[in-house]
Amino acid sequence: MTLPIPAETDWDKAPGLLDGAMNLDLSAEQCNLAYWFRGVAQGTLRDRAESGHTADEITPEHMRTDGPLRDAQILELGCRSIAEEEGTRALAYYVAHATGIAEMDFFATQLMDEARHSMVFRNHLVEMGIPADELRSTITKLSADYKREVLDPILEFALRAVREEGDFIGAVAIFTIIIEGVLAPAAELSERKWNLIDPAASAIARGAAIDEIRHLTVGSSIVKQHLDRNPTYRDRLMDIITRGRKLWDEIPDKKYIMEREHLFQEGMHQHAHLIGDYELFPGQRLLDTTAEERYATAERWTDKMAATRLAYMGLDEAIEILRLT
Ligand code: FE
Ligand code: FE
Repeated sequence: MTLPIPAETDWDKAPGLLDGAMNLDLSAEQCNLAYWFRGVAQGTLRDRAESGHTADEITPEHMRTDGPLRDAQILELGCRSIAEEEGTRALAYYVAHATGIAEMDFFATQLMDEARHSMVFRNHLVEMGIPADELRSTITKLSADYKREVLDPILEFALRAVREEGDFIGAVAIFTIIIEGVLAPAAELSERKWNLIDPAASAIARGAAIDEIRHLTVGSSIVKQHLDRNPTYRDRLMDIITRGRKLWDEIPDKKYIMEREHLFQEGMHQHAHLIGDYELFPGQRLLDTTAEERYATAERWTDKMAATRLAYMGLDEAIEILRLT
């Protein structure tokens, strides 16, 4: 008997990232290894295992031509590829320290997802004309400051919990609430922004977003389950959330996002004919937005998503602590 592909891992049926992360309820027990092999490897990734997109989802010539649009994408995918790579390395400790088999298996699949994201983000730069033998050095150079100022401190925070303090659940909360919770809206923005301009990148982003729904919902359910069974853990968790928020306030991530948004802004107007009346979200034409407005939109999405998911975990009092806008 052939089991169907679960809707949330089906390319055509899966919801968008924010919608899925706010409205779906998935557990580590549900998203086990068999689920991953069937739903992701044979579902989401069907025809897209090599590059993250099909042969019909092309990299247009304007993405291979020098200019601000291409520079924006190189910066964005270069930095995100390193973020996924560092995330993969960190998740090895989650696999090592997982408290149950369901959690261990789930994090083994998440590790594979993030390694794949790093690969497809990176390889799109080759599709954009960066010579394969210069890829590593190009990415290392463009992401060095971002890695030092943004990625290293937040991943260090997660690793301290899982490796040094032996607090697996706390580490899951850091990854789910603090790290991926803040990165997800930027990922949604990216998928929408590049939709018409770079179909290959848009498909790559869509595939990553489908995975991200699972990471956010399962991570939340692991934290929720633990909290339901161990109510006294709440104080420790609130302390982690408070420290996580303080850390985000000290990290200059906005500087890096704005650099690529300003490049995108310039490039978008040079290629206005490609975008036309395309709407970033209902009622808002992409061409009418500014870099600042797109950043503010991602922050509003972050708050909305965080509020829903924190309430699901029974952490209503954390909503105010994490609010960005
Ligand atoms: Fe990822
Ligand atoms: Fe993820």
